[in-house]
Amino acid sequence: MLSIAVLAASCSTSTTSDSNATSDTSPAAADSAPLPSTTVVPSSTSPSTTSTSTTSTTSTTTTTSTTSTTTTVAIAAAPGPLDLSQDVVGIGYSAGGRPIFAERLGDPGGRRVLVIGAIHGDEDDGLAIVDELRRRAVPDDIELWIIESMNPDGVAAQDRHNDRGVDLNRNFPYRWGPIGVEGDGQYAGTGPASEPETQAVTNLITQLRPDIVIWYHQDLFVISPAQGREGRVRARYAELTGLPIGEITGGTYTGVAATWARNELADADGVAFIVELGGTLSPAEAATHADAVLVVAAEG
Ligand SMILES: [Zn+2]
Repeated sequence: MLSIAVLAASCSTSTTSDSNATSDTSPAAADSAPLPSTTVVPSSTSPSTTSTSTTSTTSTTTTTSTTSTTTTVAIAAAPGPLDLSQDVVGIGYSAGGRPIFAERLGDPGGRRVLVIGAIHGDEDDGLAIVDELRRRAVPDDIELWIIESMNPDGVAAQDRHNDRGVDLNRNFPYRWGPIGVEGDGQYAGTGPASEPETQAVTNLITQLRPDIVIWYHQDLFVISPAQGREGRVRARYAELTGLPIGEITGGTYTGVAATWARNELADADGVAFIVELGGTLSPAEAATHADAVLVVAAEG
């Protein structure tokens, strides 16, 4: 399985310590087995020239000297056409200059399902579910896509927002409304899709057109109800994971990612929902959620 570990990011916009040449702090490098890794090469040219090449390299981490395979993934500076035939697609950069990837698991051609491990940086237990999914054999009729985190700034800082203080789950360009100012919990940004992370994900989804999209959050431990196919898939996921179905209230829910995606995919009766995990997630629970993703993906 391909794992995302930025071995030698040469991104000139990166100012952050976790995208430099050391990969020994990444989960993928924690075990000593040779692992394929991803090197980021920013593309200053048209997105249509984005290319992937495979080269051999020797790991330079301090924990291992084994040989690994490096896949070079170019990321366009601005949203544009994506090559969805690749196993790993660089979809953009965060406000803080961190790369954002989408990875395809399983063979192309099946029902497209997209899982996003984290959007709020301090609600990142979904990363363990994504990691579990990487270890699963994906059924033939499913084209599973994962974005480990669409808010790498927030995960690095263990903060809800991106590096500009925006709540990305209030920034999506459907029923967007102004909320707060920078520093506020639900600050919605300066306008709909003002943030590069939002642009990267909307650009991917409008091209990928997944049949089901799941975003993980914490820590309300609930899935909200819905009607029709949407409600049936949510109820099935809840049944498989032991989460209750219940209303989520108390916030201002404009510019929400899943609401945008549902509207975007409505003509195909697409499903997009939020899974509110609890405050913690054990390895066994992460495995249960990964299984549930594949079950609802298969059942549709
Ligand atoms: Zn959240």
